Amino acid sequence: MRFNPKARLDTSRMGDAGRSSGGRGGGGGIPIPGGAAGGGIGTLIIVAIVVVAGIWLGGGSEGDQAADTGRYAQCDSGADANGSTDCARTAIENSLGDYWSDTLPTQSGTAFQPERKIETFTGAISTGCGSATAAVGPFYCPTDQTIYLDTTFFDEVLERQLGGPDGGFVEAYVLAHEYGHHIQNLLGTMGKVKTQQGAKSDAVRLELQADCYAGMWAKAASTTQDADGNTLIEGLTDEDIQQAVDAATAVGDDRIQQSSGGDVDPESWTHGSAKSRVQWFRTGYSDGTLEACDTFARGAL
Ligand SMILES: [Zn+2]
Repeated sequence: MRFNPKARLDTSRMGDAGRSSGGRGGGGGIPIPGGAAGGGIGTLIIVAIVVVAGIWLGGGSEGDQAADTGRYAQCDSGADANGSTDCARTAIENSLGDYWSDTLPTQSGTAFQPERKIETFTGAISTGCGSATAAVGPFYCPTDQTIYLDTTFFDEVLERQLGGPDGGFVEAYVLAHEYGHHIQNLLGTMGKVKTQQGAKSDAVRLELQADCYAGMWAKAASTTQDADGNTLIEGLTDEDIQQAVDAATAVGDDRIQQSSGGDVDPESWTHGSAKSRVQWFRTGYSDGTLEACDTFARGAL
């Protein structure tokens, strides 16, 4: 993935809370019954569902008080994004906003509102959905409309624990998936989630739809323009898309259960199998419509 060096970046929705003195696991426990003992992305998955279901039990208050470290202050242009992971994250956020600000009203008639923030952190963080630690992995909190991301997730969980890919488009896929949850929030889709576990549960449908939305953006990313009419992302390659597919595979429920040494148990799934996740990413990529991404439709799964 390459960024247009001349494109301007907007850092207004990028935040970084820095390292929490609370530290990993200290005081930030997430009270979830049946949480995966292995932590990592297993916990992430459950957290996402608890958030979606609106039954979060944590004590976080809406809006975080954390001071911002200024991590993204130097991200001015696409050239910066080509040389820095932080600025690349900013560029991806900008591209997602550009894409959905056009696509959402056009395809659904629903007004677009950007997410409040993408907030990176290390260690632990207090959110509108309760406290979270690094072990949780990336998630979207509908209450404060913020995507939370401990950036060590990519090395420590995805790569080392799950054997996922390493590379430029992996984080783009993850951010696009989380952004998909924001779009679902705007569309009111989260209210459809009644069943929380199982291969054809509403929770799985919600997650597969977020993968499909990620595919929609990926297809359009290299033609999406910013407010100045500049294309932000250039040169998305087949390898980039393959990385997204590999990442989607690595976070399939069956793969996670296998990597943590457990049995594959579809009854407990919350995000869908590796095969389904890839399939829905590809559906969004090839069809490019919200309609094609209707995972809640009868017979869709
Ligand atoms: Zn998700």
